[in-house]
Amino acid sequence: MQDTTWMADGNCKDVPADLFFPTDGAGVEIAKRICQDCPVIERCLTYAIENKIDHGVWGGESERARRRIARARRSRPRTMLRDMTK
Ligand code: SF4
Repeated sequence: MQDTTWMADGNCKDVPADLFFPTDGAGVEIAKRICQDCPVIERCLTYAIENKIDHGVWGGESERARRRIARARRSRPRTMLRDMTK
């Protein structure tokens, strides 16, 4: 079972959860501002990507941004491998 104890340290722990599931861009920006200085922002982002969570703002990133980050993370090892063969 995955460790989720870090969630108790998030800036969102006392904020209504629906704020992190906005329906428009303005709502996304409000959630991202709360995440901005969150002490567990990296763990949160990685958790959302690894668990393929495709709704809401996690780790200070929107769903679309997380998809981009996930693609970049997936392609990184191949890029590094390609660089090593030059
Ligand atoms: S990064 Fe954002 S969503 Fe994740 S724990 Fe922190 S405040 Fe909550």
